[in-house]
Amino acid sequence: MPQTLFPKLSSPQTPSLTPSLTLSLTQSLIGAGLLLAALAAPLQSQAQEATLNIYSARHYPTDEALYGNFTKSTGIKINRVDADDAGILARLKAEGSASPADVILLVDAARLVKGENDGLFAPVKSAALQAAIPAQYHAKTVDGGVAWFGFSTRARVVVYDKARVNRDDVDTYEELGDAKNKGRLCIRSGSHPYNLSLFGAVMEHLGDKATEDWLKGMVANMARAPKGGDTDQIRAVASGECAVAVTNTYYLARLMRSTSAEDKAVVEKIGVVFPNQNTWGTHVNIAGGAMAKYAKNNANAIKFLEYLASPSAQEHFANGNNEWPVAKGVSLSNPALQAMTGGNFKSETIPISAVGANQIKVQQMLDRVGFR
Ligand code: FE
Repeated sequence: MPQTLFPKLSSPQTPSLTPSLTLSLTQSLIGAGLLLAALAAPLQSQAQEATLNIYSARHYPTDEALYGNFTKSTGIKINRVDADDAGILARLKAEGSASPADVILLVDAARLVKGENDGLFAPVKSAALQAAIPAQYHAKTVDGGVAWFGFSTRARVVVYDKARVNRDDVDTYEELGDAKNKGRLCIRSGSHPYNLSLFGAVMEHLGDKATEDWLKGMVANMARAPKGGDTDQIRAVASGECAVAVTNTYYLARLMRSTSAEDKAVVEKIGVVFPNQNTWGTHVNIAGGAMAKYAKNNANAIKFLEYLASPSAQEHFANGNNEWPVAKGVSLSNPALQAMTGGNFKSETIPISAVGANQIKVQQMLDRVGFR
């Protein structure tokens, strides 16, 4: 079953075996064929091949440079398995102590907290990471160890058809559920982590009853049933199928920086609003990483996590994938993000743990109101 969760292997999944691992596994696990292959391989390359196994929910082609630069500067070869956050957590649970995973990369703060709570991560003790990542972007420090670190952020914003929609009618999340926006809304599945986290945050502000009414209002306002990803919603606003949509900022920035005429035409038609600037602030999510509980290549895992906080990797998050870097002293130089915000914006300050804790209730509400 785990294999079907992970159809997309970016590199051979079988981790290379170090000599010590080979010896310890010889009696119990390795079949004759594998053993012969290991013996046939040049001894020197066996001894020196440093590897790192990453399970990643980052689904961005531009990240190839991020991994490539790490390998280039350290000689550590990366084996990567790509899947979504939920699939990765399920796989880690199923694999238990046999898991080859060293590093876990997720793109939703609530899932990072879930992985921590489920005991799937090994606390990392790293003075460099503690110094680089501000406390609000990492798990609580326990006995000097930290379960996960955020490395970048993205805001969940509203885009609208400039010709059909008055900006003032969509400058709060609450208004997305207001009858004045009937027939206008496009949004991806309510159960997607990006939406579960947004709705879980809104629940902290509005309380249970008002949140369920709000979700019901959004269902009533939908121009079509939820389908596709965030970019599809933006395109649907430009095509006129809907007039208002919800998206993560990096998808919008990608379109804004695109050189294709089609994308330029899309961007021309839409406006963007960072919701709730006059109240609690725009919802911001975190992408981050952790060391797997049963990591075998611990030193390489920590080296990689420290690399993600380095200026060059942070610069990649900013300009490669249009996210906000979080490491101290790293300044943003992304023209699309700067244009989008006008320089700065107010983000909400709900604790991530509260957002995560609300998600079961949110999912039950989505089921009740028919938000697919
Ligand atoms: Fe995404």
